[in-house]
Amino acid sequence: MELRIAGITEESVVDGPGLRFVVFVQGCRRRCPGCQNEDTWDPAGGYAVAVTELLEQIKHARLIKGVTFSGGEPFLQPAPLAWLGRQVKKLGLDVVTFTGYTWEELLSLAQENRAVKELLEASDYLVDGPFILSERDLSLPFRGSRNQRIIDLHKERVVEDLD
Ligand code: SF4
Repeated sequence: MELRIAGITEESVVDGPGLRFVVFVQGCRRRCPGCQNEDTWDPAGGYAVAVTELLEQIKHARLIKGVTFSGGEPFLQPAPLAWLGRQVKKLGLDVVTFTGYTWEELLSLAQENRAVKELLEASDYLVDGPFILSERDLSLPFRGSRNQRIIDLHKERVVEDLD
C-alpha cells in the first residue's frame, strides 16, 4: 500500500509531545490563506512511498515518543495512514494526527467511510480544523489559530495541550 507524501522529518519537537517522526502527506483542497505548507496542496505533487518502507524508517528512529501525521490533509489518504498508525502503536509509540476537518465532520464521515473510522481509531490525538488567518495565535501549543483544537480521542474530549 502506498502513501503520497511531501516528505518526512525524522526528529521534530514542534509537531506534538516529545521527539517525533513526522509524515507530511501530500494533497489538501482547503487552500487556507496563510497556510505554512502550500507545497503540500497539489495532490499530484510530492512522491509515493510504500507504508512498509515508512514503518521501517520509524522502527530505526531512536528515542522518539511517537509519530505525527501532518500535511497536507491526512484524511484524504486514510487507509494507508490507518494501517501505518496501527503498526506504530504496536511499537508502543503514540500517534498525533493534524487535520483541516473538524472532529465533528470526521465523526460524520466515519459513519460512511471505514478508513476514516480506522484512522481516527489509530490516532491518540487529533489537532483539528483549518488554519484561519484572522484567528491566528502563535501562543497556542501545536496550533496556528484559535479555532483549532486538541482532541484526546481516548477520552473523547477537547484538551488544552498534548502530553
Ligand atoms: S488545512 Fe492545513 S495544509 Fe490544508 S490549506 Fe489549511 S493549513 Fe494548509
